[in-house]
Amino acid sequence: MSRLELAGLTKRFGAHAAVDALDLTVDSGTLVSLLGPSGCGKTTTLRLVSGFAVPDAGSISVAGQMVSSAGRIVPPERREMSMIFQSYALWPHLTVAENVAYGLKLRRQPRAEVEQRVRAMLETMQLWPYEARYPAELSGGQQQRVGLARALVVEPKILLLDEPLSNLDANLREDMRHEIRRLHDRFHYTTIYVTHDQAEAMTTSDMIAVMRDGKIEQSGSPEDIYERPQTEFVARFIGSTNILRGRRADARDAECDGLRLTCETGDFPADGGAIVSIRPHRIVLGAPAPDSAQATVERAVYLGAQWHYIAALDSGTKLQVLTSSDTRALVGERVGLTFPPSHCRALAR
Ligand code: ATP
Repeated sequence: MSRLELAGLTKRFGAHAAVDALDLTVDSGTLVSLLGPSGCGKTTTLRLVSGFAVPDAGSISVAGQMVSSAGRIVPPERREMSMIFQSYALWPHLTVAENVAYGLKLRRQPRAEVEQRVRAMLETMQLWPYEARYPAELSGGQQQRVGLARALVVEPKILLLDEPLSNLDANLREDMRHEIRRLHDRFHYTTIYVTHDQAEAMTTSDMIAVMRDGKIEQSGSPEDIYERPQTEFVARFIGSTNILRGRRADARDAECDGLRLTCETGDFPADGGAIVSIRPHRIVLGAPAPDSAQATVERAVYLGAQWHYIAALDSGTKLQVLTSSDTRALVGERVGLTFPPSHCRALAR
């Protein structure tokens, strides 16, 4: 069992806390993504976990054993962790098989066992046909698979991935996301996956931790984070959304832009204000009706499976609306919008 626990973890550079009293538990065998904008502290957190950086405060433990605390760390080579970087960092003068065998040889495993484990890993990763090639003779996706094979073959307690797909082109990235999830379902390493790409996090993860300014703003399953964001930052970061602001009218109702919106879920801020999130595909667009909000279509973009509309409320607030490709409205047309209470989410400030 390799449960990973970060408690009050802090790393400062000068006066700036890149990681700020961060708490996170990664249960044994689960894959957690750290997702957040550039500079929010994802890589610094990973470097602290790997032992390449020393925390200023807080602690990291693996299976109940402390591996880092302020000024005291177990060195990286004694942590039984594998880390994969954006650049694949393969040895250019070693073949695929030699690259993958490298970690096992360092650990002085018997030769026959090294050969057998390397072969099994290369077959799993569909790399066996390339075993004698050098990294320069491989595509980016193949090199990344060699990087993964090299990290997995040593059977690490913890696997750390830092934006592992960022050097790949869009199609390959999508394939590799599924590949990473397939490998995780097979090996079940306790894994932290750093990314700023929400689709990547949603495809690969059991749990997503959304980071902001060195802290975790919210963590939960991909569905939790998407359907039940607690703050505007999280709602905007995962998928696109419409944010309406106003004041609270009663326990579940808000007045925003002249509309009365009922929010079945979420909590309003304590100060009497209201922030309401509704996803573009949850707004219902139809003919103007007495119980709908009146709006004018300003833009209509055909996306194949859907129409993407920008509709302006009479207050001037513009909303994004996604409909099926059968719901057609023309630019300039007056339409009615309805906001189902089950999809209006009250957010904290
Ligand atoms: P990105 O997605 O751009 O890689 P990140 O979320 O991984 O960003 P970090 O690399 O962890 O962010 O950096 C967090 C903050 O700490 C940033 O403001 C960065 O400038 C700062 N920082 C990181 N490393 C150092 C360092 N060695 N010295 C000084 N400041 C640093």
